[in-house]
Order: sequence, then structure tokens, then C-alpha cells
Amino acid sequence: MGKVSIGLRGWRFEESDVFTENGEFKPTDEMPDDARKRLVRLQALVTAPCDACWLIHGDAGLDECNVADVVYGEPLAEVVLCADHEPDFLYWFAEAGGDRFKGQQELQDEFHEWFADGGRAPEGYAGVEHVETDPEDVPEPPEPDPEALNVDQPGEEQRRIDLRQELDEPEDLDLDADYPS
Ligand SMILES: [Zn+2]
Repeated sequence: MGKVSIGLRGWRFEESDVFTENGEFKPTDEMPDDARKRLVRLQALVTAPCDACWLIHGDAGLDECNVADVVYGEPLAEVVLCADHEPDFLYWFAEAGGDRFKGQQELQDEFHEWFADGGRAPEGYAGVEHVETDPEDVPEPPEPDPEALNVDQPGEEQRRIDLRQELDEPEDLDLDADYPS
């Protein structure tokens, strides 16, 4: 088994950590902590706006922001980027000292600060094209499906069960009632 990205490029999962042999998501409590944290976080990130777009347009301009394509960093301190802005992050990380913050919570703030101050990759900068041809990329990741990701969330599961119970609950049906004839 190899490594796959799920939903967004960037974070990589060991297939055997997150999928059963049938290719279905494992229950989250059977996943290693780190994989579970990232997977749970991805549910929010797959529909998130690109950080860089958001820094440009702000909450008032969410319509102008591209949806994220790629995620870097640690869960909850991650940076998500659209394809247009990914080179800016890669440049910052590789050439402008960003790699000091690898694996650290500061990574997000530091990148935001740099970008907000006008930091950009030079025209034509394309940092990690080798990633695309990495042999480990060959296994096809499953379709990004936020609903599938929801299935094994303990909280979600609980809600779903509660919902079903409510639905199954007969609504004050009194079969013995006397109906007017
Ligand atoms: Zn963007």
C-alpha cells in the first residue's frame, strides 16, 4: 500500500492507516491519532477558501476566493491554498525562510503575515512539480467525498443515530383511538 492524498493535495495518508482492505474508510478510532486528526480536519478544509485569496478579499469577498486545492502544515495551524497561490507558499517555504516553521503552529500566522505584507513568488516560480511525478502518487485516491468522511465521526454518528431514533418514534399514533365513522 502506498500514500494517498484525500480531498486536498498536500497531506498524505498511509493507505493502510485510513482504509480497510475493501477501500472503505476505517472507523476513526482504528486510525492512528495523526491520521485521524488530519482526516477530521479535512472535512472542514475541503470547502474552505484559499488562505491567500482570503487575505486579499476578506470575509466580505468570499465569493472572489478560490476554494482550496492543497493543504500544508499541521491540523488547525495549516495553510490551505488554491492552485494560483500555491507557488507563493512554496516560495515562502523554500526560499524565504518559511521552512523554519515546519511542523509548528506558527507556520500559518507566519505565512499569512508574509503574504499580507506583499510577499509573493517571482513570476513563473513552480516549486514542487516533482511531487506530481512522485511514484507514490500513482495509487488513485478515492473520490473526495465529504459525506463519506462524515460517516465515522463519533459526533456525527451520534447525531445520526439520534435523528433516526426521532424519525422512528411514532408521532403520538393512537391506534386504539375511536375514529368517527
Ligand atoms: Zn488563492
